Order: sequence, then C-alpha cells, then structure tokens
Amino acid sequence: MPELPEVETVSQGLQRRALGCRIQAVEVRHPGVIVGSPEQFAAELEGRAIVSVQRKGKALALELSAENQPPRYLLVRLGMTGQFTVSARQTPLEPHTHVLLALGEREELRFRDVRRFGRMRCCTRDEAEAAFERLGPDAQQVTEEQFLSAMRARRGAIKSWLMNQRVLAGVGNIYADESLFVAGIHPLAQPGRISAPKARRLFKAVRKVLDHAVKLQGTSFRDYVDIEGRPGNYEPRLRVYQRTGEPCRRCRRPIRRLVIAGRSSHFCPHCQPRPRHVATMRSLKTP
Ligand SMILES: [Zn+2]
Repeated sequence: MPELPEVETVSQGLQRRALGCRIQAVEVRHPGVIVGSPEQFAAELEGRAIVSVQRKGKALALELSAENQPPRYLLVRLGMTGQFTVSARQTPLEPHTHVLLALGEREELRFRDVRRFGRMRCCTRDEAEAAFERLGPDAQQVTEEQFLSAMRARRGAIKSWLMNQRVLAGVGNIYADESLFVAGIHPLAQPGRISAPKARRLFKAVRKVLDHAVKLQGTSFRDYVDIEGRPGNYEPRLRVYQRTGEPCRRCRRPIRRLVIAGRSSHFCPHCQPRPRHVATMRSLKTP
C-alpha cells in the first residue's frame, strides 16, 4: 500500500507534470472510485486549472481554480493499489483505468486501481481542510515534542500506534516495521512504557527512514509506480519488511514475523528485544 514516501513521490510528479495544466475533459469509467455523483464530479473539474498540489500523510489534495469562482479541491487517496500517471492520450489504456483527466491536447492524468480501494472526491476548501484536520501531524513534519507527547500513557502495541493515521499521518506497515528496527524497539512494546531515550530514537528513525525512502522514490510492493510509471527504488534497502527467515542485516540472525492487529510485523528478536512488560512469544502464538 502506498505510504508517505510513495504518495510524496506522486505529489512531486504531479507538481512537475500537471501543475498549471487545465483539465479539459473528465471521463469516469468506474463510478465506484468517485465519492458522490460522477456526473457532478466531471462537471466541477472540467475547465479548471491545477494550481497547487498538497499532501498530508497519505492524502493528496489538488487545488483547482476557475475564473470568478471559489476554488475546488480534488482529494485523492491511492488506497491499496491506486496509481496516478501522466500518459500521452494515444497510449492504449491499461486494464483497471477508472478515471481520465485530459490535460491539454496531448496528455492525460490517469487513475488506475486494481483493488479499487482508492477514492477521488471533489470538494470545497472547508471540506478539504476538514479532511486534512482529521489526520494527525504529517510524519515528515511532526516535531519531536508532538511525537513524544502523543506516545505518553498510550497502551497497545507501538506498531499499531505508528500506523494510526489520527496520531501520525503517513506511516503504514512497511515504514513502521523499518523504523522500529532502526530504533531497536520490539513491535509489541507499549508506547507509554518506552524510555525517553528510546522514544527519541524512534522519532529520529521514522524521519530518517521516510526521508531516505522519499529520496529513492518509495517502495514498489503490489502496484505502486510513480507518475511516469516507474517503480520505486527503496526495496533493496528494506531491513526487515517481508524478509521473514532471512538474516538480519545487523546480527545475521533470522528475521521473524508476528501478526499484530491482523497485520504482519517483521522484526529481529535479537536487535529488537522483547520488553519485560510484553507477554512471552509463546503465549502470543507466533506464526
Ligand atoms: Zn538483528
């Protein structure tokens, strides 16, 4: 699933390729990915120019302007397998292409989504702001103080805490596993019981992992590609994610997998030791 680095890569691609372009025509081929009426969606977008691209966590908002009218915002969530690409209009459509936005005579912005968990919605400025406000601080913008105070007194698993978009926006399964490894924290540790030096280490790890992944255009699991249709380059750098049984890059012991709240967590039991407040592995039924 695209997380902050992948969505940021798409956002930078949109700024490069679509900023300033006017949407000349809209074609909705699958209404299921549009929130509200597809006819109204098309009518509101047509003729507007893309004047800014904003991102918070995994959410994108394209600001659309038209003369003498209040701005509209196109909110986009890539969901699990959503792709946004700019293609020449004569390029044949790939299967699962659900929305086409014609940019000028020759190019179009295409939204493709195999699993169809992605969504596009046209809304007012207030609605766009409200959607962003429902999210916690962006994981690349969050301050150390905000991060540490949000951890205080929180129970549950640190892995789930990192992935809670209302607490911290942008981190999903891949970068939560990677950040916890870099910080040397077990995925089941309780946020409120992690020592202050370790919590600061986690804050730095999240920033470092995300910044590095953004530089490498993200990780291509499932269908993620950038605006030009290219995969990300972070996959060879992954330390634990999807490496169950492979040797830890630090201590050579095998990486293990644990299911937390229905999601796979990958970690090194030696580099990320189980804290005393967490029950033993046997009672948690490691798969
Ligand atoms: Zn290790």
